[in-house]
Amino acid sequence: MYLKNLPHKTVERLSQYRRALLLTLSKEKTHVFSHEIALMLHITPVQVRRDLMLIGYSGNLRKGYDIKELIELIGRIVDTEKGQRVAVIGLGNLGKAFISYFKGKRNKLTIIAAFDVNPEKINRGFDGVTVYHINSLVEVVKKHNISIGIITVPADQAPDIAEALVEAGVKGILNYSPKPLNVPPYVYLEEYDMITSLEKVAFFAKKNDERFK
Ligand code: ATP
Repeated sequence: MYLKNLPHKTVERLSQYRRALLLTLSKEKTHVFSHEIALMLHITPVQVRRDLMLIGYSGNLRKGYDIKELIELIGRIVDTEKGQRVAVIGLGNLGKAFISYFKGKRNKLTIIAAFDVNPEKINRGFDGVTVYHINSLVEVVKKHNISIGIITVPADQAPDIAEALVEAGVKGILNYSPKPLNVPPYVYLEEYDMITSLEKVAFFAKKNDERFK
């Protein structure tokens, strides 16, 4: 199921709604109201209702939303039926942390390969993931039908890696390097620079520190 023009932020929140709903489901509840979801995610009930309207879901006024039904619907929108395969490029501290953290978290997204240049890291598995030499990236990505690449190499290497991933035919890239990348419009790019995020927090922490002295 593919919904055209779903805002990026809505897609992000759908993933958060599903996580919150799964937690609620384990508490043996069958229905949930928009204000309950909103409370868990620290957003407004209007936001929740607006997002769910965009995916064509309306709850029962008296009982709220059917949790199981909503989890299933979000799955049909966010996931693909067969699941998607993911590769991590750069098996340094960050690449390893990502692989270990993500392991077993989502059954429709599987990290099946990692790539590196360091001979000591290649041809041995890491946490169940096979590690290949970067030179075989295009071949392995095509052969195993990998559709998403996560970039965790040093910044100066990132543009070449992105180019290789595009050539190999991936449909999405998550860039963890601080180097902004260019990709063609048919590849979805998400950039996450941890250092900028921490600096942003540090800036507001400093401001609050001064304000509440
Ligand atoms: P380590 O010290 O174990 O290498 P690190 O996190 O300090 O870890 P970084 O310098 O950030 O290492 O590099 C991240 C990883 O990216 C390393 O494993 C490195 O070997 C790898 N790497 C560097 N250049 C490339 C490249 N062109 N292609 C693939 N992997 C690369």
